[in-house]
Amino acid sequence: MALIVQKYGGTSVGNPERIKNVAKRVAKWHAQGHKLVVVVSAMSGETNRLITLAKEVQAQPDPRELDVVISTGEQVTIGLLSMALMDLGIKARSYTGAQVRILTDSAFTKARIQRIDEESMRRDLDEGCVVVVAGFQGVDDVGNITTLGRGGSDTTGVALAAALKADECQIYTDVDGVYTTDPRIVPEARKLDTITFEEMLELASLGSKVLQIRSVEFAGKYKVRLRVLSSFQDEGEGTLITFEDDIKMEQPIISGIAASRDEAKFTVVGVPDRPGIAYQILGPVAEANIDVDMIIQNVGSDGLTDFSFTAPRGSFDRTKEILTSVCKHIGARDIRADRSMAKVSVVGVGMRSHVGIASRMFRTLAEEGINIQMISTSEIKISVAIEEKYLELAVRVLHKAFDLDVVQG
Ligand code: ASP
Ligand code: MG
Repeated sequence: MALIVQKYGGTSVGNPERIKNVAKRVAKWHAQGHKLVVVVSAMSGETNRLITLAKEVQAQPDPRELDVVISTGEQVTIGLLSMALMDLGIKARSYTGAQVRILTDSAFTKARIQRIDEESMRRDLDEGCVVVVAGFQGVDDVGNITTLGRGGSDTTGVALAAALKADECQIYTDVDGVYTTDPRIVPEARKLDTITFEEMLELASLGSKVLQIRSVEFAGKYKVRLRVLSSFQDEGEGTLITFEDDIKMEQPIISGIAASRDEAKFTVVGVPDRPGIAYQILGPVAEANIDVDMIIQNVGSDGLTDFSFTAPRGSFDRTKEILTSVCKHIGARDIRADRSMAKVSVVGVGMRSHVGIASRMFRTLAEEGINIQMISTSEIKISVAIEEKYLELAVRVLHKAFDLDVVQG
């Protein structure tokens, strides 16, 4: 008998029929004797609807009141799911974040969980009751309702699992696990049975949006076994996200390939090479809250350097504006900006113990005539910036080059 936290996303509870299906799935686990805490999101589209509604009334909604409004979606689904469970003859009780007492700081719309009181949940569980908790919300120490940021129900699930020392946190969603890459780009992409937290973080931040990044960080920190599964399939073990030491089999060197297309590249040309230049260029960019990713600087023989970096495409105009004034200020020759860049990365903990991954990646891209414009690496990741029009091609050939379409024994 295990203590399991299950989290169901918005599409899984998107209508009454689906809520009843979730109840049946919970009932199955319950019948096997497991203790269950179930976290739900609002019905799909509901949180967006509530935000729109708020903005129709107040153009810049007051953050405290916005949280009062957008936390209601989850209050509906916890009640409905509890009713559906009762209809199946199962004892169930719903809790809002405040009722559990998921204590957060007071940063409305992006609050952080500080503590969870688990006594009442434990009491219910001991009585054979299924505990149903509203995702995405908490309460601050003076009783204000708070929310945890978009996609925050994943974090609620993981936090409850950590507080209750659950055996596993299962995230049910509309995909059946984490894939080697986006199956819409590579139909041969395979579902991974296991992946490490580190790899998942790289893949998540690089654009595979299966889980809220924060929840993965949280799970890694508090050693919560995390599993992603489909709520629309009866079979399947999903993907277990776990620790390197837990993965017994010989891991493949590369676990997945991530791609993101929202990149832009900027180059300040002919920068005088002197101390403080990188700060003079990137300081104002950081002050504008623009997230710089890859950076390259290289000094030429004439004592001048070209300084390039990538930033999100969404901040293209703003970044260009800042650089134009920086350029004058530091006496650089010119700036160049390209808004249609993409980033493609190969990720795998096996890189730590294997050489030649980068050269295989670069050779594969070269054979397709894809020009690499920037490169950045970490211990378990190699990323390249390329022209956006090559994104699909790059992902496909790399997927093949690293044998990711071959089922691993
Ligand atoms: N309902 C919230 C959102 O749409 C939280 C969640 O679904 O995880 O962001
Ligand atoms: Mg979600």
